Amino acid sequence: MSKTTLEFQRLPHPSPTSATKRTEILKDPGFGRVFSDHMVTIRYTEGKGWHSATIGPRGPLQMDPASAVLHYSQEIFEGLKAYRTKEGGAVMFRPGENARRFQRSAERLAMPKLPEDVFVESLNQLVNIDRDWIPDGDGSLYLRPFMFANEVFLGVKPSSEYLYMVIASPVGSYFKSKDSAVSVWVSQDYTRAAPGGTGAAKCGGNYAASLTAQMEAYKHGCEQVVFLDAVEKKWIEELGGMNVFFIMDDGSLLTPPTSGTILEGITRASIITVAKDMGIKTREEPYSLDQWRKDAGTGRVKESFACGTAAVLTPIGTVKSKDGEFVIGNGQAAAQTEKLKTALIDIQRCRAADTHGWVHKVF
Ligand SMILES: *Cc1c(COP(=O)(O)O)cnc(C)c1O
Repeated sequence: MSKTTLEFQRLPHPSPTSATKRTEILKDPGFGRVFSDHMVTIRYTEGKGWHSATIGPRGPLQMDPASAVLHYSQEIFEGLKAYRTKEGGAVMFRPGENARRFQRSAERLAMPKLPEDVFVESLNQLVNIDRDWIPDGDGSLYLRPFMFANEVFLGVKPSSEYLYMVIASPVGSYFKSKDSAVSVWVSQDYTRAAPGGTGAAKCGGNYAASLTAQMEAYKHGCEQVVFLDAVEKKWIEELGGMNVFFIMDDGSLLTPPTSGTILEGITRASIITVAKDMGIKTREEPYSLDQWRKDAGTGRVKESFACGTAAVLTPIGTVKSKDGEFVIGNGQAAAQTEKLKTALIDIQRCRAADTHGWVHKVF
């Protein structure tokens, strides 16, 4: 990997949040509502490439109302966390994977690819300058890199200008009811991604398209949506922002294969590897809603869980759909899910050996 050639201009915040106020915020940060003092910006201009990398005070953007992203949604993002180690340092989990996925998303949305080393360096810079914003204990500093079309033009075409940014938000636990199982709504009317579409790209448009189904889930008392495939409306794909696993009665794992319509979760990939290390086999095979219902009834499926960076692993307790509802196991937090979750979190937080070189030290 070549050393980053982009020099970051450092403009420290002239009046950062006071230590007293920050301590108060970090006691109960919630998810995604409070932010650190700084942000990264890097510009891209056709013919010039990436330039004007800065790390400076976080604040509002000035945008022209004709900026392309506001009309045609040419936007992609990433999400990962920085953790405080017990030695007082900070680490990130597999940031190179986020960098490569960001490049794949860019490619799909006809955007320029930010070099992997620049992506990782932008995160290093932000975590370094806002190190006091990493919560202690179970919390972490959620990092949100994103990029959008910034050309002032109403014609439909790939933009000639882009803005890449990173912001950071201290977070506690993602779900309000900590560690208890969530209930999910299987959407049989709305789909998330079709073959040839953008399902495998991490773009804002996918989320916009999932909100109606999410509202339907809330209406039925569920926290999350499970999407089915768009062709047969039969095969389980994933949740709005999380991948899904099933734990069978022989202890093995099953998860739908990522073949273009499912986002390739880094948590998903890590779980498959961690499970393998623990002697647990994972099959990546299509699995239908009908089969899930049957297997939950017979006990062939013992547990099910959703996974992603924000919530790590979350057991699924109840599954509802237009055809009625069924319960997984006893509908509560599940033992093997918890075991896998602990194994993964222990690596992320440097409490277990990092045998795969996943942990990236920031300082
Ligand atoms: C981000 C995301 C995931 C989870 O990916 P991680 O890398 O594990 O955080 C799963 N599904 C969708 C749709 C996502 O956007």
